[in-house]
Amino acid sequence: MPNSTKLPPAEALALLKAGNARFASNSRKVDPHAYDYAVDEKPIAIILGCCDHRVPPDILFDQGLGNLFTIRVAGNIVTPTQLGSIEFGALTFGPRLIVVMGHQRCGAIMATLKDQIEKQPPGSDSLKAIVDEIAPTCCSCIESHGENDEFEKLTYDVTMSNINHSIERLRSDSPILKDLAENDGLQIIGAYYNMDEGRVQFLED
Ligand SMILES: [Zn+2]
Repeated sequence: MPNSTKLPPAEALALLKAGNARFASNSRKVDPHAYDYAVDEKPIAIILGCCDHRVPPDILFDQGLGNLFTIRVAGNIVTPTQLGSIEFGALTFGPRLIVVMGHQRCGAIMATLKDQIEKQPPGSDSLKAIVDEIAPTCCSCIESHGENDEFEKLTYDVTMSNINHSIERLRSDSPILKDLAENDGLQIIGAYYNMDEGRVQFLED
C-alpha cells in the first residue's frame, strides 16, 4: 500500500538521467548484485519497455537490484496484463514515476510496418496480437508520411507515436493510475533509447 518513502517523480527522473549518463559514458558504478539502500529498497520508477535483449532498463539506467519495477513486452505495448502489473507496482511499492520506453530499430515496430506496407503478416496468432496493438498507430504514420518515406524515418515516427499511444492507454484505461495521477503525484512520461549512442531521451511535457 502507499508508503511514506515515495520518491518525487522529478527526483526519480534525475536518478534515471544520471544513471543513463553513466551508462552512455561507460562509467557504470552500481553493483548489480546489491540492493541500493539509499532509496530504502523501494523501486524508484516503473519502466514499461520492450523485451528486446539489447535494451535492459536496469543496465541502461545503471540501477541495482530493487530500484526499478520493470515490465517488458515486445513493442512496449499496453494490454490488460501489462496494465495490471503496472497498477500492482504503483499501488504496492509506491513509485510515482512511470516511464514508457521505446527504442531504435525495434523489431515489433518494424514487423508491424512490414505487415502494413509489404503485406507480410506475422507468423502466428500470438505475434499478430502484438502487431495488432501497434497497427493503428502505424497506419496513422503511414497516412501522414506516405509509404515511400524512408523506412528508418518511418520506423522512428511509429516508435514515437507508439510510445505516446501506450502513455494514453495508461492514462485512460486505468482508474487506479488516473487516481494516483490526480491525487498522489504520479507522473507518466515517455522515453526513447538511441542504441547507437547508448542514450535515453526523455519525452517530457
Ligand atoms: Zn523493441
